[in-house]
Amino acid sequence: MWIRGLVESMESMADRSEKTNAGGTPPLPVRGGSQRTGRKLSGVLLQKNAVTETVSELIFELAGEINGEINFKPGQFARVWVGEYRWRDYSIVELDGGRVTFLVDSRFRGHGSRFISGLAVGDEVLMRLPLGGFTVANPEHSHCFIASGTGISPCIAMIRLLLDLDTPPPIHLYFGCKSRHDVVLLDRIKQHRAAHLLKITVCLSDDPPAAGMFSGRVTDAIPSLEIAPETTDFYICGNPSMVDDATEILVGKGATNLFRERY
Ligand SMILES: Cc1cc2nc3c(=O)[nH]c(=O)nc-3n(C[C@H](O)[C@H](O)[C@H](O)COP(=O)(O)OP(=O)(O)OC[C@H]3O[C@@H](n4cnc5c(N)ncnc54)[C@H](O)[C@@H]3O)c2cc1C
Repeated sequence: MWIRGLVESMESMADRSEKTNAGGTPPLPVRGGSQRTGRKLSGVLLQKNAVTETVSELIFELAGEINGEINFKPGQFARVWVGEYRWRDYSIVELDGGRVTFLVDSRFRGHGSRFISGLAVGDEVLMRLPLGGFTVANPEHSHCFIASGTGISPCIAMIRLLLDLDTPPPIHLYFGCKSRHDVVLLDRIKQHRAAHLLKITVCLSDDPPAAGMFSGRVTDAIPSLEIAPETTDFYICGNPSMVDDATEILVGKGATNLFRERY
């Protein structure tokens, strides 16, 4: 009972997925009935794979109350119980049947990071999903994704959805990372059969860039973007200061359709 009450009070907190309107108006929360509640399920950890020094891929088999489909929209997240009555949000990279995949960065060493680091295959975890409105709004529009670190997770899910369309729209992904080793996070998109249609700009802030990469942060790369504000949707996800700085740059360039998720 206590856990259920806590889940519901957490969910009554403002959804952190936002659509921003240009012109200095405050961010508008994205609306959507079931997107705010999700379903409470337990997941058994099937696989835990180290992807980079600090990022792990976790694949859970959902168990328990699954009756029928989970109404997942790529870009949504799960709220995961990380012990001691605390919850952390993790974007869903993939939800396939009863299997859900996350990419979790444990570098912050907070409660969630420590909980995830301590998980072993076979452990059972409580989660509520799917949640949030950071999802593809206008599939026919050009799409520009701007992500840093594990902010790539919801973008992977949305880009795969767009690449699955009969005629995918133009898609440009700016991916900001510190180290060359982090580029491996893009593998799940690069393996898509239509990946050749996707334009990717990797922005490396710490390591010297390899050929074809941009040297610097994503916020250094996007000022040179030429945009068609009416027909381009921008999805920005990652650490809050990157999201805010990128928003300011894009709004200054006339962008009107901005969707943001601040980690
Ligand atoms: C909708 C949503 C989806 C998310 N999806 C993912 C995901 O797919 N993968 C993932 O790894 N994380 C994701 N996050 C972030 C995640 O929920 C945790 O907030 C994050 O992992 C830190 O949790 P923690 O308990 O380890 O650290 P906390 O206890 O929350 O914080 C520990 C310390 O780290 C600092 N810190 C925490 N986060 C950041 C940050 N982004 N930048 C700088 N300093 C920070 C805090 O200020 C604090 O000092 C998501 C967040 C949201 C809101």
